[in-house]
Amino acid sequence: MEKVVIIGTGCAGLTAALYAARANLAPLVLAGTMPGGLLTTTTIVENYPGFPEGIDGYELMTRMQKQAERFGARVKFGTVETVDLSKRPFRLTVDDEKVQTQTLIIASGASHRHLDLKSESLLEKKGVTYCATCDGALPIFRNQPLVVVGGGDSACEEAIYLTRFASVVYLVHRRDTLRASKIMAERALSNPKIKPIWDSVVTEILDVKQDKVTGVRLQNLKTNKQTVADCAGVFVAIGHLPNTQLFKGVIDMDDAGYIVPKRGMETNVPGVFVAGDCSDKVYRQAVTAAGMGCAAAIDAERYLAKLNQ
Ligand code: NAP
Repeated sequence: MEKVVIIGTGCAGLTAALYAARANLAPLVLAGTMPGGLLTTTTIVENYPGFPEGIDGYELMTRMQKQAERFGARVKFGTVETVDLSKRPFRLTVDDEKVQTQTLIIASGASHRHLDLKSESLLEKKGVTYCATCDGALPIFRNQPLVVVGGGDSACEEAIYLTRFASVVYLVHRRDTLRASKIMAERALSNPKIKPIWDSVVTEILDVKQDKVTGVRLQNLKTNKQTVADCAGVFVAIGHLPNTQLFKGVIDMDDAGYIVPKRGMETNVPGVFVAGDCSDKVYRQAVTAAGMGCAAAIDAERYLAKLNQ
């Protein structure tokens, strides 16, 4: 029987693991389908305190895992298939294996949002991607025009990164002002290789018949004018969806699927705590996720202490 099981190895999960491990709870940490979380798909992280020169996202997560493991956290690669939170101990199935635990910390993060176009799914991995860091250097994108969709920090970051490889990067945004932070927006818009296409949405990714990306069909939302922009790749960076489907109907969440904590990091089920992007649609920063992970572990520790009094 586990004392603490943590679902997720992003900033929230690994910080919870560090704190739970240092409280001698030897947490079991389940890595899921994206070990290290979304930060592993980022290039340089410049806003995590303590790294004045910035730090590579993958390296930051590797260091966090090592730090948690040093104090006794056990990281396991496995995906949670079912959860039974109706009574304690809670029961989980992880890749066909049964796990029982006294407390659970949900730090399952969020996944990339899709445009929900048929052509997008048909051309995924054939020029359509959700991660410039992972795919930007591929030969098919070198010296080619590329499209980034979105107007947030992610879209700006992806666009800036892709200027290393692309001949030009079209930044397609549905409004005429970026949602991104000022510093990122200024960096993107002052880059001579980035050409914004305002007030526009992608209505189709071309060309399914050729089984590769050759361009995008665009619609200007103000004029309704349709145009085609040639490109070899489409990088979709339009935000995220919380990974909380497993807990639907059991753990309280809002209409968008973000878990709503009751008090601190407690959920509506005593003994189940939450941290990070799966419950945060406002801040969504590495450092805020880490802070929530810390709080969730402290809450779990106190809960266990009361239980064993
Ligand atoms: P975001 O801030 O939610 O921005 C999503 C963007 O995609 C918005 O511009 C939105 O348009 C657009 N969008 C959403 N759905 C769309 C659709 N169906 N079709 C077309 N466009 C659509 O997401 P994010 O950029 O991934 O950032 C998430 C969080 O992570 C933020 O808090 C951000 O600050 C943080 N982050 C920080 C850094 C950094 O500091 N280095 C890097 C990446 C992310 P509207 O603007 O019209 O809503």
